Amino acid sequence: MPQIVSWIPVPRGSDFSIYNLPYGAFRRGNAQHLGIAIGEKILDLHALASAGLLDDICDRSVFLAPVLNPFLALGRDVWKKTRLRIAALLRTDDAADGRLRELDAERFFVEQRVTQMAVPMKVGDYVDFYASLEHATNLGKLFRPNGDPLLPNWRHIPIGYHGRSSTIVIDGTPIVRPKGQRKPPQSDVPVFGPTTKLDIELEIGFVTGPGNALGESIPTSKARDHIFGLVLVNDWSARDIQAWEYQPLGPFLGKSFATTISPWIVTLDALEPFATAGPRQDPYPLEYLRTHDRWAIDIALAVDLQTRRMRERGIAPQTISRTNYKEMYWNMAQQLAHVTINGTKTRPGDLYASGTISGSTPDSYGSFIELTWNGERPIALPGGDERRFLEDGDTVALRGWCEVGEFRVGFGHATGTIQPAN
Ligand code: MN
Repeated sequence: MPQIVSWIPVPRGSDFSIYNLPYGAFRRGNAQHLGIAIGEKILDLHALASAGLLDDICDRSVFLAPVLNPFLALGRDVWKKTRLRIAALLRTDDAADGRLRELDAERFFVEQRVTQMAVPMKVGDYVDFYASLEHATNLGKLFRPNGDPLLPNWRHIPIGYHGRSSTIVIDGTPIVRPKGQRKPPQSDVPVFGPTTKLDIELEIGFVTGPGNALGESIPTSKARDHIFGLVLVNDWSARDIQAWEYQPLGPFLGKSFATTISPWIVTLDALEPFATAGPRQDPYPLEYLRTHDRWAIDIALAVDLQTRRMRERGIAPQTISRTNYKEMYWNMAQQLAHVTINGTKTRPGDLYASGTISGSTPDSYGSFIELTWNGERPIALPGGDERRFLEDGDTVALRGWCEVGEFRVGFGHATGTIQPAN
């Protein structure tokens, strides 16, 4: 692959090389601006559009908006033109567009480390799937120990539930321990109080572009026109509340209290070099769920944990799980086709999360309930702490990246620290 160099420095190992160019939203003064991450900086799209450098691509107002929804609605041709323009403005070779470099850089760039990020789109609808065969099997064993771990519909339907978009929060937002009903195993009646089984779910979500009309569907062959990009998702879960409430209608208050996303939407275009074939599906899915393109993506994933005591003693966060998105049984095109097959609508900025991404080995599980097998096998941490589930003061960071040699496209992180119940 030919090397493209940006005139904004990109440190070795940075998630935000010129091959990435992910979209986010950040505070600038009293306003919220859209931006693109490059190295340790953010290119301010509001400033770029105001300088007229994007006027030939689409109406300037699209980039002056505080959220990406108007841009998401415009579709792939505009996304591609914008990506090419940004790359041209940042690159140094013969394909460079030198106009930005000649202007005062102070106006156009801010440092990521001093910037407050925000959820970059108004999320109308949020769906969470259950697409990992390993996770679904593990949870089946834990929640229904006397039954078949995988329910009979799982290999035929991308199972999911409608989540709560109003509690989607950005990386770094504190997570207050939720309260609710749980039924201790030795008791016949439920008790009320803060959850004692606060957990994470390591996931990746896709953000949609143009929607569909009510009554129409999005076939798998057209999914690429409707999917803009991906973020890391932590679907925080209260397992004791969940276990008591989930039958017969599925997840409810055990999930709806908070969902953290990473600040940068990494586009499908940036991820294309890492596309790969997904696992073989057996039985072969129904016609409307068949895909022929390579929809799996080789994204390495990690979960880091730092307890309050580790932080106070200067002990670095410990990686407690490593896995990969490419093993997911159901892919994004199948999920979008399934969601819309009954004629419901998607809109620009909707979020569809993958479900917990668990590998086949115990060090690759994407949740504490699997990593500790519902608390039976606590995780030992440096400094002497051990964890069955999350305790107050714990910080969890999800990370994700694609990498071949020095060619790297990363997601940054989705972090949250647990606060005591109110
Ligand atoms: Mn989930």
